[in-house]
Amino acid sequence: MARAVIALGSNLGHRAEQLKDALAALASLRETRLVAHSPLIETEPMDVPEAFRALRFLNGAALIETALGPKALLDELNRLEAAAGRVRSVRNGPRPLDLDIILYEGVRCQSARLTLPHPRAHLRPFVLEPLAALGISREDVLANRLPSPTP
Ligand code: ATP
Ligand code: CA
Ligand code: CA
Repeated sequence: MARAVIALGSNLGHRAEQLKDALAALASLRETRLVAHSPLIETEPMDVPEAFRALRFLNGAALIETALGPKALLDELNRLEAAAGRVRSVRNGPRPLDLDIILYEGVRCQSARLTLPHPRAHLRPFVLEPLAALGISREDVLANRLPSPTP
């Protein structure tokens, strides 16, 4: 099993319900355990097109333990996004659910489909704040490490 950190975000529809449903779905993913999650917090929109700036984001983070590899995990996350009604149209457009892999312990990679650790996470207060609630710092993201589990 490997540990991984997922960032959750929503700025469309019933944001809290969608994020809670996503946490429940992560908890019941095959070969996966939800270890901890942050509170859900409302954050300032960043990199959002002017037309959508009024839509507030709700964000959170989850720490999981999984036997799925990074690509299989991303497939599952994409499936959950689609099930929540996510349609990719405008870049950074409104979305009922966004699930990003911020870090997957022991894996660094860079491809069109998957970059780990997430290349923009360390620049984003809306990611770092929920991560801090899990005891994970910006330096941890940059160093691709997770704090040791408490015994
Ligand atoms: P950002 O990546 O800046 O947070 P976004 O989440 O709005 O933007 P999406 O449209 O959800 O962007 O995803 C764009 C692509 O990013 C996806 O097709 C996915 O394959 C790719 N991607 C690369 N690295 C990751 C990662 N670590 N987690 C999730 N998706 C990733
Ligand atoms: Ca994202
Ligand atoms: Ca995404």
